[in-house]
Amino acid sequence: MNDTIGVFDVAVIGGGPAGLATAIAIAQTGARTALVARRASYADNRTTALLGGSVAFLEDLGVWQRCRDDAAELKVMRLVDDTGRLIRAPEVRFVADEIGLDMFGYNIENRLLVAALEGRAAEIAGLTRIADDAETVVAEDAVVTITTASGQALSAQLVVGADGRHSLCREAAGIAVVRRALNQTALTFNIAHTRPHRNTSTEFHTPSGPCVFVPLPGERSSVVWVGSPSEAQRLFALDDEALSLAAEKQSHSILGRVTVEAGRHVFPLAIERPQQLAQRRIALVGEAAHVVPPIGAQGLNMGLRDAMDLAGLVDKAKAVGDDLGAPQLLTRYGTARRADILSRTFAIDVANRSLLSDLLPMQSLRAAGMHLIGSIGPLRRLAMREGLAPSWRSRAG
Ligand SMILES: Cc1cc2nc3c(=O)[nH]c(=O)nc-3n(C[C@H](O)[C@H](O)[C@H](O)COP(=O)(O)OP(=O)(O)OC[C@H]3O[C@@H](n4cnc5c(N)ncnc54)[C@H](O)[C@@H]3O)c2cc1C
Repeated sequence: MNDTIGVFDVAVIGGGPAGLATAIAIAQTGARTALVARRASYADNRTTALLGGSVAFLEDLGVWQRCRDDAAELKVMRLVDDTGRLIRAPEVRFVADEIGLDMFGYNIENRLLVAALEGRAAEIAGLTRIADDAETVVAEDAVVTITTASGQALSAQLVVGADGRHSLCREAAGIAVVRRALNQTALTFNIAHTRPHRNTSTEFHTPSGPCVFVPLPGERSSVVWVGSPSEAQRLFALDDEALSLAAEKQSHSILGRVTVEAGRHVFPLAIERPQQLAQRRIALVGEAAHVVPPIGAQGLNMGLRDAMDLAGLVDKAKAVGDDLGAPQLLTRYGTARRADILSRTFAIDVANRSLLSDLLPMQSLRAAGMHLIGSIGPLRRLAMREGLAPSWRSRAG
């Protein structure tokens, strides 16, 4: 038998960084909000380079103030062709002050960002935490009904599916997803090093994918090393000393002697694109709405823009007493997010394919593109601005 917990304006399902940010943003509009998410400490060692408007958004949520000191400033981004091929691209350096910024953003460990989001979520009176998994999500005419694994029931006008790659909410909304597994795996780990990073992130482009060293506070960096699944597994299985040496070699010793920290994870890479972003009173955010390989640090930055836009639409609908799950709101959300998600997914896919391609014309094209970006100021500045956030973007509403 079900215990009925209550009726909410909005229920957010999933307590990863995208779900927590969405729940806080929506609760801050005054909507009665439920967050259906088990309490569990963040399980991997990924970090996020927060770019564009992400930091300002986290500030508006009252979250950034809690974790600012845990983040490292990103002032310079270097792209280095390490393919060893005949036709190689020149090094490209993006410097924040060239576009009038002190920095591009900040890099922070996800576990610390999630702890700050959790801390803020816990202090908002209008945000009810239901520390459980959603087991069923059923969209009806006027509400969506959710049953949790322990048999509690709740309903809401709007459900936000922030439940990641294998989204139950997406299934409940009847949204199909186009999925392409890439023959690449990312290995993530953090390192301490003897030379300062000088707030510079360096991305080495190898024939099997990028290997990026991103600053963390102090003389530490996070590493995302993309390669073939077998190479990633080989690196994963090395002992600490051997992996430290391998990372130092891959970084061409720019950070001096490298020592890997405890904890490493592998992520098989894929591109996933749902055919709609919202349907049947259910809107998708974060990886339920888009999965891209970790190139250009775009994934969670897009997830935070999902949260920002959806909360903006809820705020406006609430102000005029509209139904928060109405088809018009869902259509507006899809329209607001589609171009950003599609254009970034496409750009990341092309960048990744151009790196992996053995075809000489593709390598020449890539080298020429990098050369143009590196040598033509306005083009470089455009690339920098677009890399942070879409310039044409205005908030939904
Ligand atoms: C190697 C790597 C590096 C990356 N680096 C960057 C970067 O620098 N910058 C960037 O912007 N992005 C980056 N990303 C992408 C970023 O990590 C993801 O976009 C982000 O973590 C996704 O967050 P999420 O909240 O959508 O999903 P998740 O973190 O997967 O959260 C989903 C949550 O939903 C919960 N859940 C699932 N089903 C249910 C259910 N039925 N009921 C309740 N809860 C449920 C899960 O337990 C989980 O907690 C990177 C990704 C990878 C793989």
